[in-house]
Amino acid sequence: MKTFLNQEMKNYSNMRVGGKARKLIILENREEIVDVFKENNNIFLLGNGTNVLFTDEFMDRVFVCTKKLNKIFDLAEGLVRVEAGANLKELIDFMEKKNYTGIESLFGIPGTIGGLIYMNGGAFGTEIFDKIKSVEILDENGNIREIERKDITVSYRKTEIQDKKWIILSAVFEFGSGFDKDRVKEIKELRESKHPLDKPSLGSTFKNPSGDFAARLISECGLKGTIIGGAQIAEKHPNFVLNINNASFEDITKILTLVKKEVMNKFNIKLEEEIIIVE
Ligand SMILES: Cc1cc2nc3c(=O)[nH]c(=O)nc-3n(C[C@H](O)[C@H](O)[C@H](O)COP(=O)(O)OP(=O)(O)OC[C@H]3O[C@@H](n4cnc5c(N)ncnc54)[C@H](O)[C@@H]3O)c2cc1C
Repeated sequence: MKTFLNQEMKNYSNMRVGGKARKLIILENREEIVDVFKENNNIFLLGNGTNVLFTDEFMDRVFVCTKKLNKIFDLAEGLVRVEAGANLKELIDFMEKKNYTGIESLFGIPGTIGGLIYMNGGAFGTEIFDKIKSVEILDENGNIREIERKDITVSYRKTEIQDKKWIILSAVFEFGSGFDKDRVKEIKELRESKHPLDKPSLGSTFKNPSGDFAARLISECGLKGTIIGGAQIAEKHPNFVLNINNASFEDITKILTLVKKEVMNKFNIKLEEEIIIVE
């Protein structure tokens, strides 16, 4: 593993905002996590940082990055074990090579498998847990365990992994046969037409409230395009907050506060952040 002290964390969040951290550990072998867990406190697991917003202040935490734990093993008959740090893109490329099908609709989510599992990430009617058979975790007592999908409670952008503070090491997926190339093409085009992908962001900022869309509510409040400091509510997709010009943490949190206040005033709906804020 590699360890960095007082590391600038800006480059580890897709929002390109963030102060320094006490320690950053980049794991290189799966086995290292057990000792890292024993020897450090206040650990925060980090994948690609595409859903985390860091404060500009010093963070007295130990960030543990899984990016280099990215092996994918074909276990045959549609079963595939994927390490937590593998990018979704790498898994989809692997599925295409092996002619497996199951999560093509998630194409374009820029996270790691660990990040996706933690959030039960999803898009266009598919969630990552739809095709998971089991998840290998390091539990709160420092034990490595394999848990069957049926024994993990999951819902929209929520898993019990969050509450139990488990660390995801790998997962076994159960795929069918016949990679759907057309679906990938369709999703790629949809994302390019709907999402502002040319500026740093964390994707959707707020969870969709039951039966509605956060983007619609924000748009109806007339907030599209609003700029605070270097941050902007995207015109193209108002549930995206963009870093348009060296935004600070404060610029972004001011936007979050404004959106929540306006949506509450107009619709009496309490928006909840989908992004994870690290202070
Ligand atoms: C342009 C864009 C589009 C996006 N589109 C979508 C979308 O369509 N659907 C969607 O669901 N999300 C979307 N996202 C958000 C984001 O990509 C997903 O939430 C993704 O799953 C986060 O993965 P990550 O590796 O970047 O996780 P990070 O941002 O690094 O971490 C996210 C959370 O997961 C935890 N975590 C990460 N790895 C582990 C691990 N191994 N064990 C335990 N906890 C872990 C972290 O502690 C953190 O709390 C989008 C983001 C962007 C920037």
